[in-house]
Amino acid sequence: MAELRVPFLDLRRLNAPFLPAIQQAMERVMASGYYLLGEEVAGFEREFAAYCGVSRAVGVANGLDALTLVLRAWKELGLLRDGDEVILPANTYIATVLAVSANGLVPVLVEPDAASFNISVDGVLKALSVRSRAIIAVHLYGQLVDMPALMALARENGLLVLEDAAQAHGAALDGRRAGSWGDAAGFSFYPGKVLGAMGDAGAVLTSDERVAEVVRTLANYGSSEKYVCPMQGCNSRMDELQAAILRIKLAALEQELQGRRDAALAYRQGIVNPALLPPQGSLNEHAWHLYVVRCQQRDRLQQHLAAAGVGSLIHYPIPPHRQGAYAGLGHGPLPLTETLADTVLSLPIYAGVDTQLVIDACNSFVGPAWRA
Ligand SMILES: *Cc1c(COP(=O)(O)O)cnc(C)c1O
Repeated sequence: MAELRVPFLDLRRLNAPFLPAIQQAMERVMASGYYLLGEEVAGFEREFAAYCGVSRAVGVANGLDALTLVLRAWKELGLLRDGDEVILPANTYIATVLAVSANGLVPVLVEPDAASFNISVDGVLKALSVRSRAIIAVHLYGQLVDMPALMALARENGLLVLEDAAQAHGAALDGRRAGSWGDAAGFSFYPGKVLGAMGDAGAVLTSDERVAEVVRTLANYGSSEKYVCPMQGCNSRMDELQAAILRIKLAALEQELQGRRDAALAYRQGIVNPALLPPQGSLNEHAWHLYVVRCQQRDRLQQHLAAAGVGSLIHYPIPPHRQGAYAGLGHGPLPLTETLADTVLSLPIYAGVDTQLVIDACNSFVGPAWRA
């Protein structure tokens, strides 16, 4: 197929403005002789924690590790035990579920809220059991979960809250940023995220000093001081080059978010087609990692957009409970999660995206009117 006029994501173009600064930073790191556990990672940890409004950040190798290590730390601290139940949204990316099962904990899948696609507080209430110990709040597509309600429910029931903020860098609710609401949060800096590295990277955020210290120890072989290992850890460290790149891109994150919000506003005003259901929610506190529409004939819509030169992707076509990896996992009926997998489509969204081409392509699609 011919090259798309509006690719779903164009990382080369998006990173181009940063290249001179990144080249300088890389030379600085290379000349320093410190490639791990140095000044760049420490600097990024300070700057990202301050940006999010949290006291501690720990750089790790990727977003999955960030989530996994928080749960591991809670186990080390005696707050979680093997077999405890962790409630999470059924329509999340599989990494959220992997973090739970990798720790010998039991994932309990809950239907999302029909308007926001985020975990529903009602659904969490219904899923509570005597083994419930934690909730993972996934800020899906860049929109915060209803955290005031979720935190109230968690506190009433003695549950820990882990934010999966892998899609929500800089997103907020009532002015308070993602990563600062729960007991701890995991972020991913995978290249395609709103704040992306040039390789894998992740971070744990928490204002609980003990959790930060245990995560840091676990991520470095369980070693608190050189060659002394109180815990069985792993090797999960952010490297200095990625941290140097992230510091540069963090300084421009607000601009990137504004560009995405402008694009979301243009889509919301411009896409007027009864066959498409636009995403709901606040424009200005959303990080707009993804702009997700729903359509009865989603696959036809995707083909129509491609023919018009517009890229799109499906997040996600197969929910975790339908994956072979979780064939043995028990769960209740998840009809909304399954309908979402069949009807969602993500449009290109990033600062500077050609919104008019996308709007015209969406408006020229002919299909049955959306009905819930
Ligand atoms: C990307 C993502 C992750 C995993 O992050 P990696 O850095 O790719 O390991 C976890 N949860 C969600 C919701 C994500 O989108």
